[in-house]
Amino acid sequence: QKFVYDFTEGNRDLKDLLGGKGANLAEMTNLGLPVPPGFTITTEACKVYLESGSEPAALRDEVSAHLDALERTMGKKLGQADDPLLVSVRSGAKFSMPGMMDTVLNIGLSDESVVGLARQADNERFAWDSYRRLIQMFGKTVLGVDGEHFEDALDEAKSAKKVASDTDLDAEDLKKVVERFKEIVKADTGRDFPQDPREQMDLAIEAVFNSWNTDRAKLYRRQERIPGDLGTAVNVCSMVFGNLGPDSGTGVAFTRDPASGHQGVYGDYLQNAQGEDVVAGIRNTVPLADLESIDKKSYDQLMQIMETLETHYKDLCDIEFTIERGQLWMLQTRVGKRTAGAAFRIATQLVDQGLIDEAEALQRVTGAQLAQLMFPKFDEDAKVEQIGRGIAASPGAAVGKAVFDSYTAVKWSRSGEKVILIRRETNPDDLDGMIAAEGILTSRGGKTSHAAVVARGMGKTCVCGAEELEVDTKRRRLTTASGVVVEEGDVVSIDGSTGKVYLGEVPVVPSPVVEYFEGRMHAGADDADELVQAVHRIMAYADRVRRLRVRANADNAEDASRARRFGAQGIGLCRTEHMFLGERRQYVERLILADTDAERDEALKALLPLQKTDFVELFEAMDGLPVTVRLLDPPLHEFLPDITELSVRVALAESRKEPHENDLRLLQAVHRLHEQNPMLGLRGVRLGLVIPGLFTMQVRAIAEAAAARIEAKGDPRAEIMIPLVGTVQELEIVREDAEKVIAEVVAETGVELKLALGTMIELPRAAVTAGQIAEAAEFFSFGTNDLTQTVWGFSRDDVEASFFTAYLEKGIFGVSPFETIDKDGVGSLVRSAVQAGRATRPDIKLGVCGEHGGDPESVHFFHEVGLDYVSCSPFRIPVARLEAGRAAA
Ligand code: ADP
Ligand code: MG
Ligand code: MG
Repeated sequence: QKFVYDFTEGNRDLKDLLGGKGANLAEMTNLGLPVPPGFTITTEACKVYLESGSEPAALRDEVSAHLDALERTMGKKLGQADDPLLVSVRSGAKFSMPGMMDTVLNIGLSDESVVGLARQADNERFAWDSYRRLIQMFGKTVLGVDGEHFEDALDEAKSAKKVASDTDLDAEDLKKVVERFKEIVKADTGRDFPQDPREQMDLAIEAVFNSWNTDRAKLYRRQERIPGDLGTAVNVCSMVFGNLGPDSGTGVAFTRDPASGHQGVYGDYLQNAQGEDVVAGIRNTVPLADLESIDKKSYDQLMQIMETLETHYKDLCDIEFTIERGQLWMLQTRVGKRTAGAAFRIATQLVDQGLIDEAEALQRVTGAQLAQLMFPKFDEDAKVEQIGRGIAASPGAAVGKAVFDSYTAVKWSRSGEKVILIRRETNPDDLDGMIAAEGILTSRGGKTSHAAVVARGMGKTCVCGAEELEVDTKRRRLTTASGVVVEEGDVVSIDGSTGKVYLGEVPVVPSPVVEYFEGRMHAGADDADELVQAVHRIMAYADRVRRLRVRANADNAEDASRARRFGAQGIGLCRTEHMFLGERRQYVERLILADTDAERDEALKALLPLQKTDFVELFEAMDGLPVTVRLLDPPLHEFLPDITELSVRVALAESRKEPHENDLRLLQAVHRLHEQNPMLGLRGVRLGLVIPGLFTMQVRAIAEAAAARIEAKGDPRAEIMIPLVGTVQELEIVREDAEKVIAEVVAETGVELKLALGTMIELPRAAVTAGQIAEAAEFFSFGTNDLTQTVWGFSRDDVEASFFTAYLEKGIFGVSPFETIDKDGVGSLVRSAVQAGRATRPDIKLGVCGEHGGDPESVHFFHEVGLDYVSCSPFRIPVARLEAGRAAA
């Protein structure tokens, strides 16, 4: 096994092994770009080190061999007294982890070689400046000295000389700073700053290995879902110097604007400085464009290189470079981060430039980015007072009155107020308040905190871990870092996409992307902005290639029409229980209470025309597209009055000796139907089999509605879906009844009807016996919400708030199985049911309804297992279309 790669040996595809930085340094080297020579120690070496506590035996010799080669190339030895080779030791994992692991520059300097460097460069100040930087970075990163000690010492030196900038310190000043720094190291660590260059290098390498497991790095990885066992590579790179004088400098650049995607000159430059000065913001940089007048030759060369890189990587790149006495050096590049909007714009710009094709453009954007673009946003032009910032935990823009406890949140929201629930952190007791609030703000906890997990699950805006805000729940107030006090009832605005918190009401503007999907903004129109154009084109690519069809979960004509505008190709789930609420509740009550067949038939008869109207509207909105209607699913008692309320009413009437027969009957019925575990009780097909006439009434309503639509020259495509089936016998009975009713309607109306009849697969038994069930089902729709509950044996309502946070923190879940389908468990049942279903009935139609249908990762899974469609809420349809396209491209 080879643990060390020269920059000439690697390439950009070796990110696993060489880390992002190392792989790209190698790529640039092999492109012939000016990269200072060096080598990369692999992530494998790091893994061995982390597992065994010591470096792999072969590493030391390999490093020696590569160092020898480097010294030969450079014509000088590491730390050589009269003319030292200096190197940087740089961390670099597969995924960039900003600010996680520190780099040490100028390794190889010592009391002796600093003199040699000064003589060689003919610049004493430069040599001592480099040396003080080494002690500072090495002291902090490798030896663990508190960085503030160095900064304080530097400040003292500056104020002693009454200057503001460290460039105003001359060689003599810097010599004193170095002395002071060495004292600090000695005092803090009990040892002298190491003078042996190889020892410096080895210690730095080991420190980079160790930095993989700092608390900060672990926390970041957990938040970003980066696996903990990747390890980091270490790059050893010969130094080039931007701090040699005004003809030197260092900078960062983007090949195009990471916010808009526009081509142009974007970046910052700092004269007479080393790399870390730019990031640290120690001195003011100048815009990159100014480099043209400072050093035209280097500027032109840099522009040339940026073009080379863009053409080569076919993407936006960001770059770190240094100019040493008029000579340009490339120190880093990578495909640059960008905003969601820029991702879409850049993808289409690159297609126009002929750099990538449409399939590749689809890989350059994500459904999550699209979803981000669909949230309403705070008006950027509005005057705002930002009072803090936390972690962007769940996107959206929420405005409301500050409340500090769940009880008040519920009370105020009941009276029509919009509220933001503010807590130090939330726990399951806050659930009601979270539901009532527009958004949630906490001062503690990260992306996997209770508040964040639950808010994301509810699709509610959340900013968490806003640490500079002091939340005092007892006194019901919040104090900001600058002393602003927010009392209960004061209006605050929180931005779940940026983590920013504002005082007062920030106006919200609708997303232009949603305006476009809604048809209120046309991509071809003159005023359509670039973003909408780009989204329009990317969606067209996705629609062209995707194999999965996308349907909507919609229960009424309004949702159906919106879904259609958003690109739905039908309704995958119409929940009829939503049609039994409000006014119609009384009929359901009567249905349940019926003592005689006649009473029951009467209730059903009353419901029939109402149901029929619902379906006519729905079929009209989705004319020509399939509409899957699910027969009544939830437990009946959900339609009955609250048991406590009713008991009180009965007791009161009793004590007052008032007539209360009806209430008493109702109460008895409610008691009779009360279930300990209603979600596992009398619902779905069980209900249809127990209450005669209920399902046949619904089937009749569907059939009559379809017939009416056909008579009106429409094209209804109704599909009747039976929920919660566990065995084929249940389905057979319902099917037989249904077919009888349909035949009756055909006879009555004289209209030929083709109604598909199928079932949900949402119980483990149904999945396991899918082959048998397919005998009686023309389609399956996987109800992955219930399937997840029943496969795992936990109820979503109960557990998300209680133990999911702990499970996420312990890494048992990477993500809630209700958010992304659990491929190994639930997913494998889906996979085998698909196969069994198709084996029995090759033309069976297969889909999924439920939250997973709109989740990017799950959509890829459903594509892969060969479903025909996914169905999701209207708002998620564009995301599902895009991800279905990405899965197929
Ligand atoms: P980060 O990942 O934090 O950017 P880097 O390893 O890229 O860390 O280095 C930090 C800074 O030091 C960057 O500005 C980089 O350009 C600069 N730098 C790194 N290696 C060298 C080198 N060999 N010569 C000059 N500057 C360097
Ligand atoms: Mg860098
Ligand atoms: Mg269900």
